[in-house]
Amino acid sequence: MIEDSEHRRLRELLGSYALSALPPDVAPALVAHLDGCATCRAELAEIAPLADDLRGVDPDRLSDLATPPAGLGVQIRTAVAEERSLVDARAARLARRTARAGQRRAFLAVAGGVVVLAAGIGLGAAVNRDPRPVLPVALPSSSPSATVPIESLTLEGTSPSSPQVQTAGLIPHTWGVEVRMVGTGFAAGETFRAAFRSRDGRLLPAGEFLGTGEKTLTCNMQAALLRPDTVNFVIMDASGAPVLTTDLPAAA
Ligand SMILES: [Zn+2]
Repeated sequence: MIEDSEHRRLRELLGSYALSALPPDVAPALVAHLDGCATCRAELAEIAPLADDLRGVDPDRLSDLATPPAGLGVQIRTAVAEERSLVDARAARLARRTARAGQRRAFLAVAGGVVVLAAGIGLGAAVNRDPRPVLPVALPSSSPSATVPIESLTLEGTSPSSPQVQTAGLIPHTWGVEVRMVGTGFAAGETFRAAFRSRDGRLLPAGEFLGTGEKTLTCNMQAALLRPDTVNFVIMDASGAPVLTTDLPAAA
């Protein structure tokens, strides 16, 4: 009669036994137990092929196993871009509606909320490339307590071929300034960089984004510069040439 506890104890050693990794002083007890325990024999028969496979693994190559297949990154980026264009299209429709209704502030809050949401679910790299967190200031306008002042901006193109901006607003935060912008005509795939000019002449990076061509682009740009110290906002193309710029009036 086999002791049940002995069976349980020895059964846990089957894996090591299959890998020939059992200490020599323990192995005889297990072998003797296997003679009289059909359950353990059956389990060993199940484990043995797996053990053969495991022995065939080169530990030096284990790290290679986790490498994602080539092209996965492109597939993900494509899926993200498609998703984003849907979001952008909805944001643009909303912009037209709310602009007509004179609710630009509400729209900016909602558009900002979309960006917050996108950042939250991992699309942030595409929509808001700034590593700083998007703070939850952009709650829907139904939350009056979350209302933040938005200063409307008129971004002027530096040439007739400059991108068009549908809406742009500046938000003074306690930690810096933020511009929320909806626009089109940013050359698809080209990297654009945003920056704020400080009163003392420094150019502070405010993030960068990829152009989406004719598709509407919704973007948040931030810098650690307080509103009273901010005199200009500019978006530059890949060559560093300004494509959109606006001077900010002295803050009240
Ligand atoms: Zn057993």
